[in-house]
Amino acid sequence: MPETGTRSSASGPSPIEEISGVLAYFEGRVVPLEEATVSIATHGLNYGTGCFEGIRAYWNEEEQELYALQLEAHYRRFLDSCRLLRIDPGKGLDELVAITRDLLRRGDVRTDAYIRPIAFKASQVIKVGLSHFRDAFGIYYLPMGDYLPTGGLSLQVSPWQRISDNAIPSRSKTTGSYVNASLAADGAQALGYHDAILLGADGHVSEASGANIFLVRKGRLVTPPVTADILEGITRDLILGIASDLGIETDVRIVDRTELYVAEEVLLVGTGVQVAPVTSIDRRPVGDGTIGPVARSLQETYFRAVRGREPKYRSWLTPVHGRAT
Ligand code: PMP
Repeated sequence: MPETGTRSSASGPSPIEEISGVLAYFEGRVVPLEEATVSIATHGLNYGTGCFEGIRAYWNEEEQELYALQLEAHYRRFLDSCRLLRIDPGKGLDELVAITRDLLRRGDVRTDAYIRPIAFKASQVIKVGLSHFRDAFGIYYLPMGDYLPTGGLSLQVSPWQRISDNAIPSRSKTTGSYVNASLAADGAQALGYHDAILLGADGHVSEASGANIFLVRKGRLVTPPVTADILEGITRDLILGIASDLGIETDVRIVDRTELYVAEEVLLVGTGVQVAPVTSIDRRPVGDGTIGPVARSLQETYFRAVRGREPKYRSWLTPVHGRAT
C-alpha cells in the first residue's frame, strides 16, 4: 500500500472540510469569512467570469515563522489572469503582497495554510461580456494539509479533454475553467483513482486536473511546454530549477500519451499537490510501481525548501510574522 503522505508534507485538515473560523479580506475590509458574501445574481457566479490563485504558506516550528511560498509569482500570474478577463482588482503587486501578509497576521496563522485570492465580475446583470461591469476582489485562507496523497498516486487518463487556449485561456486561473478540471477529477475519482491526467485537443499530454506533470524518460526529466494548454505552473518552474541544481537533465517538450505507460517515473507538481509521485496510471504500474529516485529527491528538496530549510531557496519565501524581506 502506498503511504498517505510524507512526514514533511503539509499537515492540517483535508481540503474537503468546510472552511470556518477564519478571516477574509473583502471590499477593502478584513471580516469573518461568513460576512464576505455575494448575491446569486453576481456575473462571476452565473458565467464563471472570475479568476483566482492558490498559494501555500508553511509553518516552521523551530523559527516560529510562517513562510508564504512564491507570493509575488502568484500575484503576477493573478494580475495576468485579471488582465485576460478585463478585471481590475484595484491593487498592484506590492499592495496584494502587503494585504496578504496583513490578513495572515491578523488571523495569527501558525499552521500550514492555503491562501485563495479571487477577483470577479461583480455586477448583477444578465449580459454576457467582460467590459463595463463592476469588479470585486477578496482573499481568504484556511489551514490545509495535503491536497492529494504524497506517497504514491493512482491516476486515470481522462476521457475529458483539457480546455484549449482558444476556448478558455489555459494560462489563466479562470474560475469557469475549473468545470473542466472538476469533470475530469470527478470521473476519475468515481472509478477509484486519485485524479485525472488530461490530454489536449491534439491528443498530447497536457496536465492533471489541478497540477502540472513530469515524467522521467531514459533518466531525463520531461514536462510539456507552456503551449500544451497547461496552466503555467509556478511549482513547475521551481521543480525545473531544483532539477537543474541537482544535475538532472530536463526536456520541455510535447509528451505522447503512451509515454506515460513506459516512463520510469511520473510525478505531479503544484501548489496544492506539492510534489506527488505517481505510482500507477490506468491501472498500469509506473516503472516498478514504487516511488523512484528522481521523484524522491525532488520531493525531499522541495519540502525542505518550502519550510525555509534550504538556504539556497530562501528567496522563494516571504516571512509573514516577522522580518519582512
Ligand atoms: N494546473 C492547474 C489546472 C492548476 O489548478 C494548478 C494549481 N494552481 C497547477 C497546474 C499548478 O500550478 P502552481 O504550481 O502554480 O500551483
